[in-house]
Amino acid sequence: MPKYQKGLSRSNYYGVTGIIDVLSSVKIEEASSKNLIIKYLQKDSEYKERIENINSPEYEIIVDYKGMKRPPVNSHSWNHHQWQILTYSWLRSMQPESRPVLTGILFYLNELSLFKEDLKLLKMEVQDRSTDIMPSENDLNNLLKWNIKSKAPDLSLAFKNERSIRFIMTENESINNSLNEFDQVVAEIENSIICEVHGKGIKSSWIPNPEKRTCDACDFKTFCAKSESTKNVLTVP
Ligand code: SF4
Repeated sequence: MPKYQKGLSRSNYYGVTGIIDVLSSVKIEEASSKNLIIKYLQKDSEYKERIENINSPEYEIIVDYKGMKRPPVNSHSWNHHQWQILTYSWLRSMQPESRPVLTGILFYLNELSLFKEDLKLLKMEVQDRSTDIMPSENDLNNLLKWNIKSKAPDLSLAFKNERSIRFIMTENESINNSLNEFDQVVAEIENSIICEVHGKGIKSSWIPNPEKRTCDACDFKTFCAKSESTKNVLTVP
């Protein structure tokens, strides 16, 4: 347990439970060559280099899906998703039957059919160049011409596919960094729980990390002082 304090902390260790999707190299090779994952993996130079240097006849790939658009680079979500995949990769490597984890893949499913809010954000990210996958030619023109009142712009399938897939290289240094970040989050959660257990109210026990769309969907938005939601109106039937 990070920041463990005898008599104060609830436990001196923590565990994580969950299901991680893992693709083995055998399954990947069995799949058709038209498989989109294989196509994109083969285009990735870092992946190719790692395959050539791997000391194992088999390897694995961690896969995760996000029901959201691709976040801008260096945003909280961008970093959190990377830490998540790297933590999964370390957890998997602790299992005796695992093969080396070569890479992680994140799928941002909203990119295949963007909501208006997503399009608005994408347009802003393209204008300030804060996204790593930029549109070109027709995609760029159509997106820049689009406004929230018009119908969704025509964006090519290639552009949508490319934005929906993100590779995370599983290197030791970044894995250690992500484990530290994970520990930090656990320490914060534990600290907030201990505050509540000792009688502090919810609002002063937890440190909010507001993000407009999460706040819009959050049940606490009507009384949370940090809410970024614009949907604060309570409707009484
Ligand atoms: S409303 Fe408050 S508690 Fe809810 S997501 Fe936003 S910041 Fe977090």
